[in-house]
Amino acid sequence: MADIIKLLPDHVANQIAAGEVVQRPASVVKELLENAIDAGAKSIKLIIKDGGKALIHVIDDGIGMSATDARLSFERHATSKIQKAEDLFNLNTKGFRGEALASIAAIAHVEMQTKPEQEEMATHLRIEGSEIKFQEVCVAPKGTSMSVKNLFFNIPARRNFLKSNQVELRHITDEFHRVALAHPHIAFHFYNNGSELFILPEASQRQRIVHIFGSRTNEKLVPVNEETQVVKISGFINKPEFAKKSRGEQFFFVNNRFIKSPYLHHAVLSAFEGLIKTDSYPGYFLYLDVDPGSIDINIHPTKTEVKFDDEHTLYAILRSTVKHSLGQFNVVPALDFEQDQNLATPYNYKNKDASQPNVTVDSGFNPFQEVAQKSQGVRTFKKQNTEGWENLYVGLESKVGKDDNFSSLKFESETITGSIFEGQQESLESIATTFQLRRKYIVTTIKSGMVVIDQSRAHQRVLYEQFLKNITVNEAVSQQLLFPLSLSFSKTDIAVLKEIKESLTTIGFVFSKVENEEVKITGVPLMVSESEVGIVLDQLISDFQMEVTEDSFSQTDVLAKTLAKTLAVRTGEVLNNASQLALVNDLFACKESMVSPFNKPVYITITENDIDKKFI
Ligand code: ADP
Ligand code: MG
Repeated sequence: MADIIKLLPDHVANQIAAGEVVQRPASVVKELLENAIDAGAKSIKLIIKDGGKALIHVIDDGIGMSATDARLSFERHATSKIQKAEDLFNLNTKGFRGEALASIAAIAHVEMQTKPEQEEMATHLRIEGSEIKFQEVCVAPKGTSMSVKNLFFNIPARRNFLKSNQVELRHITDEFHRVALAHPHIAFHFYNNGSELFILPEASQRQRIVHIFGSRTNEKLVPVNEETQVVKISGFINKPEFAKKSRGEQFFFVNNRFIKSPYLHHAVLSAFEGLIKTDSYPGYFLYLDVDPGSIDINIHPTKTEVKFDDEHTLYAILRSTVKHSLGQFNVVPALDFEQDQNLATPYNYKNKDASQPNVTVDSGFNPFQEVAQKSQGVRTFKKQNTEGWENLYVGLESKVGKDDNFSSLKFESETITGSIFEGQQESLESIATTFQLRRKYIVTTIKSGMVVIDQSRAHQRVLYEQFLKNITVNEAVSQQLLFPLSLSFSKTDIAVLKEIKESLTTIGFVFSKVENEEVKITGVPLMVSESEVGIVLDQLISDFQMEVTEDSFSQTDVLAKTLAKTLAVRTGEVLNNASQLALVNDLFACKESMVSPFNKPVYITITENDIDKKFI
């Protein structure tokens, strides 16, 4: 038999290797930024077009390359960072595989200009699909400029697999955050489609975090510091009250390299135990410095996992260090001499004009008139206008015909009510007895016994249907704010807000500005009070980050659920009698009163029969 095994040509081998190294534009960004850092850059520029699909350009002021090195750097397994196997155990650089440039050049149009400090002239090189198109001498400043155009131009299947520009940009931004957080002493400039996204001057760890995530972050941070023989830990954790539902701002850096470690993550979580709710996550930015010989970064091709020699000790140290910091921040006022005073203004007062307090007199006030009980801490709310709520479902249910949907739906809702109230025709308002049990349940009587309603879930259901209706029929009422509310958010949050802005407008938010780090709001939905706006938007942003929703129906649903969850009365809130009654009425006017928007039971019924049985 003839020999059939052949060595693959280099450009094919490179293309295959590229499959591992380059998953999406963000992987290229990571490799180029890391090369710039390894080259000792003090300032790095990142320029992106169309989510990195059209252009990724990184410019650094590092050591640059000679003409020969420039050419060699695109060869596979060509690296200046290690020479022998032992070097793998004493790594001080980000890269070491010598694969990145070869891989990138195999699947894109790459152009490089590079000049070492001591040389007169720079090298200009162009490579397309592993093929060198030209190399010439040129004039350029010290450092390296690397531009990568038309990623996956020769692998259409991979190119089609890429997500929308917005989603790819989000991945790039994530990578950028990781690299920029790991290197606060390097200045970064990040431009997207011609506008600046991040301008990060050289800074301290704390300032870098604040520059990236917005000035509101500053008040959340608690410093962490510990030095032992095994590890030096520095960085910040977020105060427990700022724990979020999403796993967003959680960063571990080992020797200035971003890593993922479920094990160490658990150590931090366990330090927070009892301080935050079980379904929320603390934010943290933790920098661990260990002996490079005690870790192995070689186990994963994209290098976000690291193997530690003594993981158990590290776990214990980390856990107790975080606990210690948490214990301290309550007692010792956080003195931060590095703090920039401009960052200290509470976010909702930033840029807000001082206003003259105005006194209003209620001319119709009569002190002898009986007022509904409205003592402090008692929440009251009006029965909602449920007229026409059925419209909400118009078009959602296929079996309902266009002409008679109204009557058939009405019938359906009557059967739901009927099943609890056993044919009782009068409205619930005629049932006077409701009371609140342990500030958690509302108990009300029915003909056959009683209903115990979970107040929070019931309210969630009512609000959820109300919001869905508003969004679907687009009839939200918005209350105009006397003074526009100005809130600041991180750039990433602003990007998410822009995506959902239209849906927010349909439920009654009026935005006069959403850009840079600032949002100006001139109107809010009737059901949202001014003081709640910040919390509501925060929650919305984090819910949307968790669920990448691209179609508008699921966007609407997430929106309605989040608002319902955030604004509903909670367990522990006292409700007066009128509110209890209104809530019960609203609940049973709902299309689906038995389960909350999150599919949890809303009420249980206990019949007279059930009670009788207990007395046997
Ligand atoms: P690695 O980073 O793993 O060594 P790369 O393919 O990313 O592999 O880069 C190959 C080599 O090219 C590097 O080892 C380095 O010597 C050189 N190089 C790459 N980018 C730069 C840069 N921005 N400045 C200076 N040298 C660079
Ligand atoms: Mg590299």
